[in-house]
Amino acid sequence: MTSSTTHPSVVVIGAGQAGLSVSFYLKRLGLEPGQDFVVLDRGPGTGGAWQGRWEALRVGSAHRINDLPGMDALGISFETADRTLPAKDVVADYYRRYEEHYDLRVQRPVEVKRVFNRGTGLVVASADGREVTTEVVVNATGTWGSPFIPWYPGMNEFRGRHLHTTDYRSAEEFEGQSLVVVGGGTSAIGFLLELEGVAAELTWVSRRPVEFLDEGELNLEAGAAAVAKQDEAARAGRALPSIVSGTGVPRTRRMQSAIDRGLLVARPMFSSIEPDGVRWSDGGFQRADAILWATGFRPELRHLAPLKLREKEGGVSVGAGASWKDPRIFFAGYGPQASTIGANRAGSQIARQVVAMLSHL
Ligand code: FAD
Repeated sequence: MTSSTTHPSVVVIGAGQAGLSVSFYLKRLGLEPGQDFVVLDRGPGTGGAWQGRWEALRVGSAHRINDLPGMDALGISFETADRTLPAKDVVADYYRRYEEHYDLRVQRPVEVKRVFNRGTGLVVASADGREVTTEVVVNATGTWGSPFIPWYPGMNEFRGRHLHTTDYRSAEEFEGQSLVVVGGGTSAIGFLLELEGVAAELTWVSRRPVEFLDEGELNLEAGAAAVAKQDEAARAGRALPSIVSGTGVPRTRRMQSAIDRGLLVARPMFSSIEPDGVRWSDGGFQRADAILWATGFRPELRHLAPLKLREKEGGVSVGAGASWKDPRIFFAGYGPQASTIGANRAGSQIARQVVAMLSHL
């Protein structure tokens, strides 16, 4: 394999859970980090999206955080991580130690702006003007940089504050305020539990009824159903359904008591937004100082636009982590491999396909 630092055989974009999982297996299959493959990440530090999450989020308050493959060799696991520390710090620390232990030489901060064809090769161009030519790209860019906020009539006239999950820092900034929290997933629920007793008024709205599971943990069956739904959409090149629409929300004891005291009771979505609040189609009105959109994300794929992978159905067609339109492009942590469901399996599956492809070049 004729590789060099300016012409590695593989470029991995993203050093979150998915990118690090693929990198671990590429190294294990004999590729040299920094030489045969390079990992580029725009983040200032380690931890993927976790480095940007709010202070109060703890390991355990979100879903289970899956260990990276080979993390046991470092004697660490998220199962035994300190739950009193912010998850963002724990994940950043574990991922830093992991990158050092496996000498993955992640180049950061490097923001990939475009991936395009040049002859038979691929060029990965970053914001600082550098270009890396390569044979294979593994896209592991997650979703954190691509927040989704649906449009509602009157949005622009709202005198209060619109903020998305990615803008949330702490409950304290909403002391004494009236807040409408939008979204039927675990982020919205986490916010409501944090804001209770701090905000003056909390209203929870969701597009569809929130399906609480009887178990307090994501059960394998719900996880498998969600994976199947994601996989079907990814193979068909459709936009990906939200994961919670496939899994439901595991009902913990803390949630059950919040349901009993009326905090976690979602109202249907409002129909429009007015300067001072939100309005339902039945005429009901709720005053609001802020609307917190816990309405999820879209896969971050803008930089791949020159490759014209997007289908008319809105997504990219991906099967077993590989693009069906361009066999040189792989998607880690996408759809059925999203890390809540388990990015690690994807890491090994993609790494094996990449090495098999390189052996035929
Ligand atoms: P990310 O962690 O987002 O990593 C992607 C990396 O790519 C980032 O480091 C980013 O800097 C980099 N990147 C993106 N675009 C570019 C570019 N153009 N150029 C260079 N680098 C780029 N999952 C769980 O398993 N358990 C949980 O408890 C859990 N809780 C969550 C809580 C919240 C609030 C949210 C929003 C999500 C949660 N998730 C959870 C889901 C999420 O899938 C994981 O948090 C995990 O971070 C996904 O890993 P990833 O590697 O796919 O993506």
